[in-house]
Amino acid sequence: MKKIALLTSGGDSPGMNAAIRAIVKTCLYYNIIPIGIRHGYKGMVQADMFEMKYSDVDNIIHTGGTILGSSRCLEFKNKETRCIAIKNLLDNCVDGLVVIGGDGTFTGASILASEMGIPVIGLPGTIDNDIYGTDHTIGYDTALNTVIEAIDKIRDTASSHHRIFFIEVMGRHAGFIALNAAVASGAESVLIPEEIPDLNQLVLQIQNQNKGKRSSIIIVAEGEQEGGSIELINKVSPMLEGYDLRPTVLGHIQRGGSPSAFDRILATRMGSFAVDLLLDGQNGLMIGSEGDKLITTSLETAVKLHNTPDLDRLKLLKKMLTRH
Ligand code: ADP
Repeated sequence: MKKIALLTSGGDSPGMNAAIRAIVKTCLYYNIIPIGIRHGYKGMVQADMFEMKYSDVDNIIHTGGTILGSSRCLEFKNKETRCIAIKNLLDNCVDGLVVIGGDGTFTGASILASEMGIPVIGLPGTIDNDIYGTDHTIGYDTALNTVIEAIDKIRDTASSHHRIFFIEVMGRHAGFIALNAAVASGAESVLIPEEIPDLNQLVLQIQNQNKGKRSSIIIVAEGEQEGGSIELINKVSPMLEGYDLRPTVLGHIQRGGSPSAFDRILATRMGSFAVDLLLDGQNGLMIGSEGDKLITTSLETAVKLHNTPDLDRLKLLKKMLTRH
């Protein structure tokens, strides 16, 4: 194996740069030429790729985003477009490919692994943590800490003014961020896509909670079934007259920022392991973590199944909230 190409695709996440750095440094360690592909699959189609050197990955381990850039390339779903992309890799004598991304990226990678004849390894890079085959995705820990920091700040003003904040966090299909942010920030309630919400219960809880504590934090995953924090306030406000209800949508600050130590270490281990797997002749695998170990799952399985949060955390929240 003489050349390994790498790309980041789909939604960016903190820690992608640490993964890029680890792939490049491990390639150079083995005297393999790393080829960076810009802007995900789009760069593969447009042959936008370059030989990476040590200097390209100096001082990036602590930075958010991705130095390679990312994009959504819908044309990649067409076989003819993928053929152009594969030809570009073959023309550049690429012997292996590492993709960093989420579900969509792995769907593309899994098709490539069967069509291309060049082995592919995937690294889970998404803040949502919803990828099957790993306890943690690269970026989730950082995003969760960003969310908690923001909630702590909102809590200060919520308690000063006796307000009820509905804080919307990312998680269109999975409630990992919302549920664990609720536990870690001591939130009064949480709404996640995996649970049908009971608005009457929520109203009662806010009323009861406010007998002893005059502010509340309700965490709302963007994909929960009522349609988000603003919609939710519209629905419950007639039942909560006299309460000061405020929506806050945290938005894209959740994707950015310097990766946590956890994400940097995870990304470095996974990135280096990806090169080892390619050297070992492996193809069509995604790297995941299980406890302190790195494991692999086929890309095909990783895209078919999904990770769901531990709903026992809801019971834990309830115990933390009960006031007799
Ligand atoms: P993520 O990887 O974060 O889930 P997307 O869902 O946007 O992000 O997917 C990233 C990219 O993966 C898409 O822009 C597209 O290039 C590629 N992709 C997604 N689905 C497919 C598919 N069914 N076939 C081929 N490529 C796909």
